[in-house]
Amino acid sequence: MQKLISSTDQIKIIDSDALIVIDMQNDFLPGGSLAVPDGDKIIPDINTLAKLFFQKNQVVFTQDWHPPNHQSFASSHPGKNTFDEFSAHGLGPVLWPDHCVQGSEGADFASNIDSILAKMILRKGYHREIDSYSAFLENDKQTKTGLNAYLKSFNVTRVFVCGLALDYCVKYTSLDAKTLGFDTYIVQDLSKPVNTDETVLIALLNELKESDVHLVNLAQFQEF
Ligand SMILES: [Zn+2]
Repeated sequence: MQKLISSTDQIKIIDSDALIVIDMQNDFLPGGSLAVPDGDKIIPDINTLAKLFFQKNQVVFTQDWHPPNHQSFASSHPGKNTFDEFSAHGLGPVLWPDHCVQGSEGADFASNIDSILAKMILRKGYHREIDSYSAFLENDKQTKTGLNAYLKSFNVTRVFVCGLALDYCVKYTSLDAKTLGFDTYIVQDLSKPVNTDETVLIALLNELKESDVHLVNLAQFQEF
């Protein structure tokens, strides 16, 4: 059992660590179809952190990768509007604008994110009937992406998660990582939420802490 890192400790990256960079794609950045406020502001610092991990650790980049007419899109449901509440097996709680359609410019990584540092690019959300917020399990909570076995094949025991969006894909990736047995940390200053309401954000951070998903910041990593 590794010692828990507090929010002030220095972090030394060790062999069993991995970095997971979530969905740094054009559609999630300002100007994109499902823009996360200030999503572009975290790119330079994610590049800095990914360079630190790249030397000897696993670096995974994820890519939301939907077919046209994906069932998470409001446009796939006649009479529905974007952000309408919607609940179905593996879908919801809302319907999204069309985003990250396979092969589209919106699905590309941001031009200034160093995706060259990804040792593994994991695409998710390609099943038309199921969404996938988590990089480990799709939203039916059963369909695996393969990431768990991949990381464990490299003896990874501790993961650091950053990217977009804090309240969806970063959150659910982190909760699943914890459930799957990884010591799990979110690099909080390298992640931005869709919903920036402060009360909602505080509730989210409390939910993560209660699930033993811990929060750290870039400045804690050694060499800074
Ligand atoms: Zn999506």
